[in-house]
Amino acid sequence: MQIRVRSGGHDYDGLSYVSEVLFVIVDLKNLRSITINAESNIAWVESGTLTGELYYRIAEKSKTLAFPTSVCPTIGVGGYFSGGGNSALLQKYDLAADNVIDARIIDVNGNILDRKSMGEDLFWANGGGGGASFGVILPRKVKLVIVPYPVTIFTLDRTLEQNATNLVHKWQYIAHKFPQELFIRVLDSNICVCSDPDFDPSLVVFRARVGNLSKPLIRIKPELGLPELYRKLILSCFATSLSMSGVKSSYTAYGGRAARLEIWGVPMLYFKAKSDYVKELILVTGWKKIWKKFYEEEAKTAQMIFSPYGGKMDEISKSSIPFPHRVGNITKSNTWCIGKKKEKKLPKGI
Ligand SMILES: Cc1cc2nc3c(=O)[nH]c(=O)nc-3n(C[C@H](O)[C@H](O)[C@H](O)COP(=O)(O)OP(=O)(O)OC[C@H]3O[C@@H](n4cnc5c(N)ncnc54)[C@H](O)[C@@H]3O)c2cc1C
Repeated sequence: MQIRVRSGGHDYDGLSYVSEVLFVIVDLKNLRSITINAESNIAWVESGTLTGELYYRIAEKSKTLAFPTSVCPTIGVGGYFSGGGNSALLQKYDLAADNVIDARIIDVNGNILDRKSMGEDLFWANGGGGGASFGVILPRKVKLVIVPYPVTIFTLDRTLEQNATNLVHKWQYIAHKFPQELFIRVLDSNICVCSDPDFDPSLVVFRARVGNLSKPLIRIKPELGLPELYRKLILSCFATSLSMSGVKSSYTAYGGRAARLEIWGVPMLYFKAKSDYVKELILVTGWKKIWKKFYEEEAKTAQMIFSPYGGKMDEISKSSIPFPHRVGNITKSNTWCIGKKKEKKLPKGI
């Protein structure tokens, strides 16, 4: 019999709740307390906490504290940290797992160990190389990071007719070299996910999020060479605290439900997803090939998200935690395809 540990249940392959053999689920969804000390910039976060809850609770305490937490608000902290944890703050503050300073873990004998009693090797092993290998992690102690207030976020939508290919092509040359405070990612899709009801994209949606005010925006203007784009960026910017901006982007993503903490839930979507690391710049012909794929029947609902690496990610050693995808990676890509129902019945856990 196997044991499956589940925090938020967001594993792409369902590793926390699927098995070929008989298994037991250790479900941590009720372990979700968050204790924040805003004076020492430290928090203890239990594994069943959702990443959006962490944003929300930090925002309640401080406008200038944050944590490198995912854009999606419904991921379990337990699995998120176990895989490293990519966020809009990664160029400035690394991965979530880089900011863990202690943890409590139940080992195979049922002992609860902290960093001191588990030793540095086991602590290192639990820090970003994947979950469920070395025990069940209960809470983690994390360093909160300091962010300016207010920060600016924006979304810009562009279709192919509006020269999106050129824009995305240029973006990949500069996004991983931006000042560390500026994070701009690209979301390619054949479906309209923008907030403007009159907008009807034929293919590409360019979405972006930025962590600073006008100065970095001025810097990107000459590089993109698009005064019109710059004007629109400024117009669509709005100032907010960073922790709340996590909530706001989630708000857009989940049709407003994230605005009320108590009704967050896992959306009932069935999808296939995978991540890749982009090490070489994609040529314009390559982007055009990608766009063609979106017109294929099975890719109608697909989305590709490209998040820039660089910044602090280039400076940290590949072995500081068990997460080797550091210098040499230009972006991380996530490809999603949303389906309507389960492909096959999955075996049930106990
Ligand atoms: C919609 C969506 C958006 C995403 N966005 C991002 C993103 O922005 N950034 C990012 O970095 N990743 C993102 N991911 C990937 C996500 O971070 C990982 O899939 C993560 O492992 C999910 O954690 P979970 O606790 O929700 O999942 P679970 O399925 O509960 O767990 C994932 C794995 O970790 C193990 N595990 C869980 N909890 C523990 C624990 N307490 N102790 C030991 N092992 C444990 C599980 O057994 C399983 O192997 C996204 C995934 C989805 C589905």
